[in-house]
Amino acid sequence: MSQAAKNTGKNTGGKSEEAKPASRKAATKAASTKKASKTKPARQNTTKDVKTMVWLRAAGHCELCGKDLTLELVSLKNLFEGEVAHIFPAAPGGPRGHAGYTEADAKHLTNDLANLMLLCPNCHKSIDKTPDGVYPADDLTDRHQGFLERIHLAAMTPHNDFGVGIIVLGNHFSTASSIEPTEVQRAMFAEGVRPHTKPHILVLPEIPDGVRDARYYHQVRLMLTRTIERELSAARSEAGDAALLAIAGLADIPSLMIAGSVMGDRRRRLIFSLDRDTRLRWPDPAAVRPVYQYTPPPEGDGPVALVLNISASIPHDDVLAAVPGGRVATFAAEAPSTQHVKNAGFIAAFREQLQIRLSELEASTAHPIHLFAAIPVAYAVEFGALLSMNHQHGYRIYDRMGAGKEKPFVFQLDLDHDENPNLKEVS
Ligand SMILES: [Zn+2]
Repeated sequence: MSQAAKNTGKNTGGKSEEAKPASRKAATKAASTKKASKTKPARQNTTKDVKTMVWLRAAGHCELCGKDLTLELVSLKNLFEGEVAHIFPAAPGGPRGHAGYTEADAKHLTNDLANLMLLCPNCHKSIDKTPDGVYPADDLTDRHQGFLERIHLAAMTPHNDFGVGIIVLGNHFSTASSIEPTEVQRAMFAEGVRPHTKPHILVLPEIPDGVRDARYYHQVRLMLTRTIERELSAARSEAGDAALLAIAGLADIPSLMIAGSVMGDRRRRLIFSLDRDTRLRWPDPAAVRPVYQYTPPPEGDGPVALVLNISASIPHDDVLAAVPGGRVATFAAEAPSTQHVKNAGFIAAFREQLQIRLSELEASTAHPIHLFAAIPVAYAVEFGALLSMNHQHGYRIYDRMGAGKEKPFVFQLDLDHDENPNLKEVS
């Protein structure tokens, strides 16, 4: 790659010193190339003003992966790490330069904003170094236009949604690896929601002897009901009933299901998923919604057990040990992982696809459905919300419990619509 080409690729937000030297060098290089042979056609330069405009229009983010190109995420230092990329190339024979693409075309398009994208170095490399046809010009043009429309829409939409943030922490998580209120606050802002006050941390009761019993869950439901009700009523004076509820959590799965059922299915909500690497930021906002695989239970008279294999795969034997003679149905991610949730669309996909299966299962048995779940926190909350309204059926929730490496599944609680969230005090 010539020096000129390198410089065209390395834009520094309009503050660069490269424009003049680059064009001088390019001219020299082009002249010498001409003399030596007639192999490489001259590469056209994008002007500094046009580059600046490319940065501004993309609001400093990579147009393909969405990365912020002005901020280093760990040190939080400012940087300018974007590259101005060509959809149709700056020289004939470049990436996506079709037959008949002339130097005149290149010269014209190298300063055409519709032909220029702001990309991170990785994405730039991907589109230019992969074989022809992997990133066709039409696709890039569509994505370029779509990206600019999104920026425009985001800028034009006032930040007027309003919400209450709650962090549900299991007692044993509360000290070790907590979720900071500021993290929830930032995640809410990122979704266009203004927090009413600093998000509230709710620490669940201690578990005596490591055994969660009916009393524990009763207490959990009571605490959640009171906290959610109190926080929402504090926000009500400002937003009426329109306040949204944002939940993040780190706790046992049955308690998080209770959180969902207390929240209810009618309330507008944001449920955040804690990712090991990106914390409460979505790891991949553009990831395509998953399709879950479902295996219905075998015919028979045994009790129906539903296994949700999303963050891990639960062995059938472990289920059958808890529900002897059970008929096991599975609802599973293609590759179960603790980092399964990539964006909010995943939660919606889980809900939409699971709801259909629950209805089928409920129609097939009059008895409660035994539920075994290896699922992310966000799915547990969403599951509880889903059951709170749309399902009349009883669900018996199991969880791994006790000492040792391979903890067996133990029945935890009945989750069904009969459970009134407004429970009386524990006596
Ligand atoms: Zn990128």
